[in-house]
Amino acid sequence: MNQDLLSPEFATRMDQADPLKSFRDEFLFPKHAGEPQAYFVGNSLGLQPKGARAQVEEVLSKWADEAVEGHFTGQAQWMPYHELVRDDLAALVGAKPHEVVAMNSLTANLHLMMVSFYQPTIERTAILIEAGSFPSDRYAVESQLKFHGFNAQNSLIEVEPDLPNGVFSDQCIIDAIRTHGKRLSLVLWPGVQYRTGQAFDLQAIAGAAHEAGALVGFDLAHAVGNLPLQLHDDDADFAVWCHYKYCNAGPGAVGGCFVHERHAETTRPRLAGWWGNNPDVRFKMGTEFNPTRGADGWQLSNPPILGLAPLRASLDQFKRAGMPALREKSLQLTQYLAQCIETYLSDAIEIITPMSAEKRGAQLSLRVKAGRDAGRSLFEHLAAQGVLGDWREPDVIRISPAPLYNNVADVQRFVRATQEWMHGRR
Ligand SMILES: *Cc1c(COP(=O)(O)O)cnc(C)c1O
Repeated sequence: MNQDLLSPEFATRMDQADPLKSFRDEFLFPKHAGEPQAYFVGNSLGLQPKGARAQVEEVLSKWADEAVEGHFTGQAQWMPYHELVRDDLAALVGAKPHEVVAMNSLTANLHLMMVSFYQPTIERTAILIEAGSFPSDRYAVESQLKFHGFNAQNSLIEVEPDLPNGVFSDQCIIDAIRTHGKRLSLVLWPGVQYRTGQAFDLQAIAGAAHEAGALVGFDLAHAVGNLPLQLHDDDADFAVWCHYKYCNAGPGAVGGCFVHERHAETTRPRLAGWWGNNPDVRFKMGTEFNPTRGADGWQLSNPPILGLAPLRASLDQFKRAGMPALREKSLQLTQYLAQCIETYLSDAIEIITPMSAEKRGAQLSLRVKAGRDAGRSLFEHLAAQGVLGDWREPDVIRISPAPLYNNVADVQRFVRATQEWMHGRR
């Protein structure tokens, strides 16, 4: 059996039987020594769907042929261009169409959302986040605190993980929200933690935050396109994410934003721009801001059409594949990776990502037992063999089999390259 797990026949059999196998051919893989890389970095920058180029070229041609008229002509006119991705995006995150908008970038959207949904009062000034959060999120949060005259010492609550390797129990998060409940203005939590790969019960976190009288926002950078999401039903007040990781929409792709429909006509403060204004009156060029109902009302500028174009190709793939099928494959492929690590590599590597299905997505975060230098050495050995993971300080290698384009043969390449490295160190 063990031998079988790593045999080329096993990979061929599994990959032939994969109902999503044809999607792999829809991607462009960087080459290593003439062969496609074993690319496990979809958590950082997803591969280019072949369909992206046509979408970008369509915009370039329209610009060449029609210039300003391109705003108002044809199927993919630029004026309502963001609406072209709206329904598919809503389906991907489990939202109603008017609850989502593709705009800006993740951190910019996080700021826009906090302007509206972090409104401290005398009793409630605090924002609760996870300790070890992604730096950009922490900077954004701390700067929002300062903007309102508070600071991290008095108003930032960073919940420490209670389990080994930076992992949180569900109870730890709920307890922290309850403990600090009366001080809390906002809970901001990731869908999947970037360093450990842990996925969270968003519904439970939203429920606890609301029970405590706080609002709740989610950073879904590592969750969108990775896990099935139900943002509306889970009752998030807002969520933000990027599209260049599992969504494969290209470097710096336009980000995404969710605002629950109960805030669709909010009178909360917001930073306004003309693209958030009701399109019926936008071009009257009046002085009064009249926000569009729903998430669209938070738009500032006319969108970067060239940055949005690849997202159309990407969302089309997600629609055709279907998130349930992608998740099923993802669970199997990552489970296979874990099984191989436990069977062949456990002398050298430990998995820090929790392994139960509801607590992880595609990514496994691995720690090399011999320490940081050994970790770097393995990481570099893998890259030299055309096996690409990524490195997160101080000592984590992230390997993320993406179900749209990775397969069992890729995982075997990772395992074999790691075995070689282990052999070389004996
Ligand atoms: C990738 C990532 C970001 C990146 O932010 P940008 O504004 O898109 O540069 C921010 N936060 C988290 C948690 C991330 O994983």
